[in-house]
Amino acid sequence: MKYLYVGGMAEVDGEALESIRGRVAAEFALSPREIRLPAPGFAYDPIRGQYASTELLENLVRRCPPDAFKLLAVTECDLFIPVLTFVYGHAQLGGRVALVSLARLRQEFYGLPPNREVFVERALKEALHETGHTFGLVHCADRNCAMALSTNVRQIDSKRAEFCAACAARLPRPARPRE
Ligand SMILES: [Zn+2]
Ligand SMILES: [Zn+2]
Repeated sequence: MKYLYVGGMAEVDGEALESIRGRVAAEFALSPREIRLPAPGFAYDPIRGQYASTELLENLVRRCPPDAFKLLAVTECDLFIPVLTFVYGHAQLGGRVALVSLARLRQEFYGLPPNREVFVERALKEALHETGHTFGLVHCADRNCAMALSTNVRQIDSKRAEFCAACAARLPRPARPRE
């Protein structure tokens, strides 16, 4: 049995977490499992007021359970890598661990009225994207594909919560682009 462990780093939105666990596991034909992960305080950068995603990823590698095929961590903390203002997530290309931040996925972050559906959908897309990297998928030129690079929520909203045929074909399971 190949397990996908999905857990929150500290408290995270429960609905988004459940939705990600079920949907990402199904997409990659893995068995979902819950895991408790440490609060990400150790990776906090007080100058930037954000969390260092590389440091978090390294910690996740060490915490990855022996029977985990993949480990996906979800956090409410805003992530960065030194050369970028922020990142929505981070993953080991072709590795075992991935990380997704919910911090910038809510409409409220942009001064708009809350919309749960939009928020959860964005979280799913970014979770699929980062997990896709762990399967060796790189950024895709198809803007509808979950592997398209998103640097703002407009780009997240314009892609779909699924992989294009080319990306799906590179996954170790039958290609399953819907429609
Ligand atoms: Zn990416
Ligand atoms: Zn693609």
